[in-house]
Amino acid sequence: MSWVLQGVSILGGPPTDVLVDGGVIAEIGAGLRGEQTLDAAGLVALPGLVDLHTHLREPGREDAETVETGTAAAALGGFTAVHAMANTDPVADTAGVVEQVFHLGRAAGHCDVAPVGAVTVGLRGTALAELGAMATSAARVRVFSDDGVCVSDAGLMRRALEYVKAFDGVVAQHAEEPSLTVGAQLHEGVVSAQLGLAGWPAVAEEAIIARDCLLAGHVGSRLHICHVSTAGSVELIRFAKARGIDVTAEVTPHHLLLTDASATGYDPVFKVNPPLRTRADVDAVRAGLADGTIDAVATDHAPHATEDKETEWAAARPGMLGLQTALPIVAGLGLAWSVIAERMSSAPARIGRLPGHGRPIAVGEPANLCLFDPAATWTVDGHALASRAHNTPYEGMTMTGAVVATFLRGEPTVLDGKLT
Ligand SMILES: [Zn+2]
Repeated sequence: MSWVLQGVSILGGPPTDVLVDGGVIAEIGAGLRGEQTLDAAGLVALPGLVDLHTHLREPGREDAETVETGTAAAALGGFTAVHAMANTDPVADTAGVVEQVFHLGRAAGHCDVAPVGAVTVGLRGTALAELGAMATSAARVRVFSDDGVCVSDAGLMRRALEYVKAFDGVVAQHAEEPSLTVGAQLHEGVVSAQLGLAGWPAVAEEAIIARDCLLAGHVGSRLHICHVSTAGSVELIRFAKARGIDVTAEVTPHHLLLTDASATGYDPVFKVNPPLRTRADVDAVRAGLADGTIDAVATDHAPHATEDKETEWAAARPGMLGLQTALPIVAGLGLAWSVIAERMSSAPARIGRLPGHGRPIAVGEPANLCLFDPAATWTVDGHALASRAHNTPYEGMTMTGAVVATFLRGEPTVLDGKLT
């Protein structure tokens, strides 16, 4: 089926028509015709978004999310590809599990699913997982992460960085020195002291980032830092890049928007790892995203079953939903559309080595697209989101900007803001 996107604005440019045919962008110009027409006046076309950091929870916690429901949320959020984190049950530390997740993604069909492989067996941090077998499996794993926990053993981290070079892989580190965060509940600072909650100090993140940048430089490997949350982390990454170290970094929408002051009502919906930080940290990660020190926005979409989240703060699991609210939040930061496309599509596709995604909107390129209405407003209702879980920190908040349509290889996965 061919589609004409009529009067669309490519990355904020002047209105034009885009003909999508045979899975690719066939023509761009005025007065185009196709079998189907989508009135795209007022809509901004971005390359389909790519998430480096999604928890789909399957296998193991299908009560919180499944590949089907999580990728539905992704498509509704404008994503055409997501990286599925490895901290499932069983852990995605073998070719068998990553292939299972990959095939579930294909069967769901809402977006491409690129499974992340665990760095260590069972995320236990003691022995390397079957990295090579996962890389050469049908799932073609390129991103390896123990996310949820840090690969804290420096020698093991060094071996992982060396090993993934063989297949152009990258180690994505959840930077948290565990001996500094025992029992930690909230950013260590004024608010944690007021609330009497154990602090999660910025230095626990920064110490690992500094160490791993030095390790990556020493062995000449590619390193990616998950969910950067502190001003000091941004400074360290800026320093490492200036030294020529091959490091990339992501920031989440919630670390770009919310602060630890959100926790003053003890509502565990605001509990997340790394924790929400201070206003100065939010300003620093925004500046880092704008100047490219931080390469990508990643959602860290983390659905949790009600009983794991709606409990007392200390017992609640860390994490928040993110896929359907990411683009409106980032669009509200005042970045140019070309920068948003780079940070939410091109850079994450390059880091994850997904060659069909994050491409320019140009004739002959794969038709992976997100059509966004920057003027639309909507109110967040956790129960109306596509995720099986409801733990959004934005409940009741009015968002400006809405995804109207998503195209995956020329076929709409979302039209009129609804799944096709
Ligand atoms: Zn993490």
